[in-house]
Amino acid sequence: MPSQKGCINVFRHGYRYNFRDISRKGCKVWRCVRKDVCKAKIVTSEENKIIKEDTHNCIPDEIENLNLKIKCKCIEKVTNEATPISQIYQDVLEELQIAEKGLGDKIIPLKSLTSTLHRHRQKAKKQIWIVAS
Ligand SMILES: [Zn+2]
Repeated sequence: MPSQKGCINVFRHGYRYNFRDISRKGCKVWRCVRKDVCKAKIVTSEENKIIKEDTHNCIPDEIENLNLKIKCKCIEKVTNEATPISQIYQDVLEELQIAEKGLGDKIIPLKSLTSTLHRHRQKAKKQIWIVAS
């Protein structure tokens, strides 16, 4: 159940959800992003397990979701790792098996992500790290 820093999104079975609410029991409620046509929600526990899942009225846009997933994973990595951005992009594509799935020509190119990723890296650099010894 990925919910990356910088992008509050849940991806599941090709559907994408936005954070909606925290229930009285401390569970998170997520709403399908196609909220104009679809009322589907999922509820996750504090351990990020699915507790409740509705049936969708909408059809997921797999490519759009894949590109968002690539973006979120890249943002997470540029924030947490010192690896060069182009390498991070390659790593993410490998992780998601883009080439094996033959999706290479459908995904967001690195040059469309570069400025966003640089911005996130600059932000991450401003954090102060204290190493306890
Ligand atoms: Zn839906």
